[in-house]
Amino acid sequence: NSFQGFGLAEPLARALADEQYVTPTPIQAQTIPLALAGRDVIGIAQTGTGKTAAFALPILHRLYTDHRAPTRKSCRVLVLSPTRELSGQILDSFRTYGRHMPLKADLAIGGVSMGRQVRAILDGLDVLVATPGRLLDLVDSNGLKLDRVDMLVLDEADRMLDMGFIHDIRKIVRKLPKDRQTLFFSATMPQAIAELAGEMLRDPARVAV
Ligand code: AMP
Repeated sequence: NSFQGFGLAEPLARALADEQYVTPTPIQAQTIPLALAGRDVIGIAQTGTGKTAAFALPILHRLYTDHRAPTRKSCRVLVLSPTRELSGQILDSFRTYGRHMPLKADLAIGGVSMGRQVRAILDGLDVLVATPGRLLDLVDSNGLKLDRVDMLVLDEADRMLDMGFIHDIRKIVRKLPKDRQTLFFSATMPQAIAELAGEMLRDPARVAV
């Protein structure tokens, strides 16, 4: 039960050594092999279980091993999160685990000027971490195109529902390519979340901690 067994790319192994992560947490042990195998995953996990690394590590592995230069006004990985604060933490995690590989990652969150975000996206990004409202504003103002997204993460889906984002999420998902990998995390699985997952995921593997 160690990170070595996953066969993560060398820059990621090095970042994990920097962070002194030795043993994967249960959500990581279950999610990482499935995500590396290309599966869609529904993870039932709370904050504090290590779920951020559970999705960030396999995504960074795929970005590294199947590298493509970012294209203008687009991103390859879209991470949707309910709050500005959580979005910032997720971006920090991607930058920490991805520090030894080429990675262009940024935020699209409300409450700050859109101009800087539009400029950051203009040359293209590997990873964009976003709250749903600001993401739609960027798409609607032609600052961002979603047709190159091939990995989608929905984090804290139940909180998104509570905050009234479900309609925005459906709108975003309709704009994404169907051929993509989706990783979906929620602390709880009420009916409305199960339905949303059913619409968004392809033959998902379920993991719970
Ligand atoms: P999260 O649930 O993603 O918010 O992570 C909770 C905390 O656990 C973060 O501070 C991580 O840096 C830390 N963490 C995540 N995975 C591991 C691990 N395998 N070993 C040690 N610490 C970890």
